[in-house]
Amino acid sequence: MDKKALRAEIRCRKSQYPPEELRQKSQKICEWILDDGVFWASHYILLYNPLPDEVNVNTLITTAHNAGKTVLLPVVNGDNLVLKRFAGFNYMSTGAYNILEPVGEIYPRSEYHKIDLAIIPGMAFDPYRHRLGRGKGYYDRLLPQLTQAYKMGVCFDFQFLENIPSEEWDVVMDEIIR
Ligand code: ADP
Ligand code: MG
Repeated sequence: MDKKALRAEIRCRKSQYPPEELRQKSQKICEWILDDGVFWASHYILLYNPLPDEVNVNTLITTAHNAGKTVLLPVVNGDNLVLKRFAGFNYMSTGAYNILEPVGEIYPRSEYHKIDLAIIPGMAFDPYRHRLGRGKGYYDRLLPQLTQAYKMGVCFDFQFLENIPSEEWDVVMDEIIR
């Protein structure tokens, strides 16, 4: 199947799960990551403000923030993602695609090397650690700039596929948590 067909297949699978079941799956994934030394060893963590159909990582955002780690969230800026520092859920406003984003300054490019962990959503992942996104290539353009980050993809179990077609620009993950 090509990428487009795989995205349709995943949307179909996802629609068969009640929100409550997805919420429980999200919670298990968060617990798994919180039991992982990589999370606690990291000081600058890229997370994401979850869309309704993505693994909900709000527990990770809150836990990392409360532990004094720097949490960065992506913000859509035209064809690219820029990063902003999370300062609490009270310091967010709606941006592109109606996604909640942190208010405040853009985190400078020159500081991207500090980011030691990137937790990345996907439509699907495979055992070769390939990632399928929503089709805009946002993370394929962002991730090569995070030269020091351990790239952890997260997805629901039914989003883990046998084989995702990979093109030269697709960034390979270091680990997939599902
Ligand atoms: P996604 O990663 O969201 O699943 P694709 O991998 O299919 O989507 O990429 C979507 C489009 O983004 C590609 O057709 C390509 O033109 C563009 N793209 C991806 N990575 C880059 C890059 N590093 N530089 C320029 N364009 C890119
Ligand atoms: Mg891609």
